[in-house]
Amino acid sequence: MEIPAKQKMRFMSGLRSNGVTDQRVLTAMEKVPRALFVQRTFRDCAYADMALPINSGQTISQPSIVGKMTSALNVGPRDKVLEVGTGSGYQAAVLAHLARRVYTIERHRRLARAARRVIDGLSLVNVIVMTGDGSRGLPDQAPFDRILLTAAAEDLPATLLAQLRVGGIMVLPVGQTDTVQRLLRVEKTKNGLEYRELESVRFVPLVEGVAQDI
Ligand code: SAH
Repeated sequence: MEIPAKQKMRFMSGLRSNGVTDQRVLTAMEKVPRALFVQRTFRDCAYADMALPINSGQTISQPSIVGKMTSALNVGPRDKVLEVGTGSGYQAAVLAHLARRVYTIERHRRLARAARRVIDGLSLVNVIVMTGDGSRGLPDQAPFDRILLTAAAEDLPATLLAQLRVGGIMVLPVGQTDTVQRLLRVEKTKNGLEYRELESVRFVPLVEGVAQDI
């Protein structure tokens, strides 16, 4: 399954003009058919640069934001990555093309199940989708080379930072849900944390605990 040629061209030029310049990231995104990760009703806009609703009241992020967050994460082929907030699974599928292994956690069981199905269908065997509270991270698999949050934390989550190896990078939106959030890139060096503020974003909140829906 591939992105249809005509849509692919528009998709890629949209990403570039909206600030995604990292060629490795662009190549990874070219390989992931976003249409498979959105609801049938929205298939027609799957390759437009916009966030779209998914089940359980959540959203699949805007492609250019996925691209810029992935670029900031600077993922290498030997990296073990943790993503908090699987949502549709799209971001995890993009990471799968860049990393050695991707662990992704979602608090809605229904979303995790749907994401796993699409990711399996694409034969992305280096992605492990889990249902759980990602704010606790994944102590069994720590330390991670890279950690990506795709839900907004109110503060820098210490539990997750503790699971980042020295030399590792974490990218996350920080701020209250109803206001503008800041995208932060945090590098854990042996002399402490180095912060870089990227841009303003809007993400759904990081919520503690596993959702009690289905
Ligand atoms: N990365 C996703 C979009 C994320 S939307 C994609 O590519 O489609 C943010 C997701 O984070 C939502 O699905 C929400 O349910 C999830 N989330 C929020 N708090 C969480 C937590 N504590 N643990 C795991 N997932 C969480």
